[in-house]
Amino acid sequence: MSGRLQRMQQIISLLREHYGDEPRQGDEKPDPFKTLIGCVLSQRTRDRNAVKAAEALFKAAERPEDVLRLGGDRLRRLIRCLGFYNQKSRYITGICEALLKEFGGRVPDKREQLLKLPGVGPKTADVVLSYAFNRPAIAVDVHVGTVAKRLGLVDDGAAPEAVKKTLEALVPPEECRLVDRGFVRLGKEYCRSRAPRCRECFLNSLCDYPEHGRGEGRSARTLRA
Ligand code: SF4
Repeated sequence: MSGRLQRMQQIISLLREHYGDEPRQGDEKPDPFKTLIGCVLSQRTRDRNAVKAAEALFKAAERPEDVLRLGGDRLRRLIRCLGFYNQKSRYITGICEALLKEFGGRVPDKREQLLKLPGVGPKTADVVLSYAFNRPAIAVDVHVGTVAKRLGLVDDGAAPEAVKKTLEALVPPEECRLVDRGFVRLGKEYCRSRAPRCRECFLNSLCDYPEHGRGEGRSARTLRA
C-alpha cells in the first residue's frame, strides 16, 4: 500500500474519532435547489450571513419560478446582508432561468451540466453532487486544499482540480463526505492559513508540516509519500 493511501486511512480514522460520523448515504433528503442556491449565497461570505440570507430567501421563494417572480429588487433586498449581493442576485436569477429553460425546473445531477450554470464553479458543483445527490465527490475549497497539502496527501503546487482527483483516488467513496467536512472543519479550527495550531491538532502525529515543530520538514514528507 502506498504511503499516502496508508496515511489517508489513518486520517479517516482520526477524523471519525474526533468529529464523529457523518449521516449515512440516503439518510438525509436534501433539496437540490436549496442546496445549490445556498451554496451560491455562501460564496465569499461569512457562514452566519449566508444562513440568514438563505432563510430570508427560502421563506419568500422555494422554487425557481418563485424566485423569478420576486423580481430583482426584492431578491437583492432579501440577500442584502451578503457580500457581493448584486452579483449573487444575478447568478441566482440566471440559474433559475436556466433550470426552467433547460432542465424542467430541476437541478441537474451531472457535474458538466452544473458547471454551465451562472456562478457555479467546481466547488459549488461538487457540494451539490455530494450533499444533494449523495455522490462521492470532494469539494475543494481553501481549507481542503491547505489541509491536504500540509498533510502531504497531495503535491504542494497542485491546482484545486488535481487536489480533488488525488483525494478522490485516496478516499473510499463512502468516506468522501467525512473527509470533505472534516478537512473544512480542521482548516477552520486548527489548520488555519496563518498560525496553524499544530501542537493541539489531533492529526499532529501524522503531519510533518514544517511549522508543526517536530523538526521534520517538506523533504521528509516527500520521502514518505
Ligand atoms: S499538524 Fe498543523 S499543519 Fe498538520 S494538519 Fe494539523 S494544524 Fe495542519
